[in-house]
Amino acid sequence: MPAAPAPARPGVQRPEQPLISIILPCLDEEAVLAETLARLGRLAAGQPDCRFEFVFVDDGSRDRTPEILREAAARDPRVRVLRFARNFGQQIAVSAGIEVAKGDAVVLMDADLQDPPEVVAQMIDRWRQGFDVVYGTRASRRADSLMKRATARLFYSTINRLSEVPIPADTGDFRLMGRPVVDVLRQMPERHRFIRGMVSWVGFRQTSIPYDRPERFAGVTKYPLRKMLRFAADGILSFSIKPLQLSIALGLIAATLALFGIAYALFMRIFTSVWVEGWTALMIAVLFMGGVQLICLGIMGEYIGRIYSEVKRRPLYVVAERMGFDETGE
Ligand code: UDP
Ligand code: MG
Repeated sequence: MPAAPAPARPGVQRPEQPLISIILPCLDEEAVLAETLARLGRLAAGQPDCRFEFVFVDDGSRDRTPEILREAAARDPRVRVLRFARNFGQQIAVSAGIEVAKGDAVVLMDADLQDPPEVVAQMIDRWRQGFDVVYGTRASRRADSLMKRATARLFYSTINRLSEVPIPADTGDFRLMGRPVVDVLRQMPERHRFIRGMVSWVGFRQTSIPYDRPERFAGVTKYPLRKMLRFAADGILSFSIKPLQLSIALGLIAATLALFGIAYALFMRIFTSVWVEGWTALMIAVLFMGGVQLICLGIMGEYIGRIYSEVKRRPLYVVAERMGFDETGE
């Protein structure tokens, strides 16, 4: 572990007994929750000068996840649970947690223990030193497949070329955020949410902690390739309008090529007698132009679809049940 950098803001005041909210989105996590709860309990026991709340957001699980969480909430006053009416996606689940979290600092963490609870203790230290955002970076991706590593690299280089705010590579959503950052996030109403990008956009003093990302404790990934691609598209399209400008560039290139084609066709028509030929050239031009136009239409369609779902102004999620919120007077 590299030495901690100098304090970000010497003399920054943090509460004596800060409340740390840990937000855990869960989809079909019955296999890991008992262990996750135990590890969170140990984390809290090791931090006697902090108070904790564990906000679980059940994102429409079809297994025993809600029952396990209901029991946990009944047993442990620190456990709070939002149960969604259906699956809304991890980014929305995290957003719901951020909405209800009361903490002076809020931690986002996967429920499958790939984000080790022990790292949170270091994040709290950094926050006490004056940082507003402490995110975990994956020191090694040993647990990830070659495919996942390669696509992740491609994704982060693309998004950083396109997006105006730099988004650190090799990070997930595993991070601690101070209250001021959380309050800004709560004011961002967009429904296509790419939380790690939104946190970068907010700014403040951010730092990173490298950690070894272990394999999922149990169960299987809830991100099949299709969902992964959707997530990547959300990230890029919500943080850049450059793809729209790309369609202008494609259009210009195609138009320039077309100009040459037109000049050639006119030349052949006027000065030679072979002007009936050229079916191949014609087909190539038509197909190429058609392809370029469809790509551009598709890019615009992506953005228009997003505008459409934003203007509908539906709530982000539907909560079916709240557990463990009564003691706080809510
Ligand atoms: N998750 C969720 N809703 C979803 C997909 C995932 O709440 O639609 C949760 C999941 O339960 C886990 C976290 O998001 O706590 C990360 O998912 P997972 O570990 O399956 O992703 P991976 O680590 O394989 O990328
Ligand atoms: Mg995982």
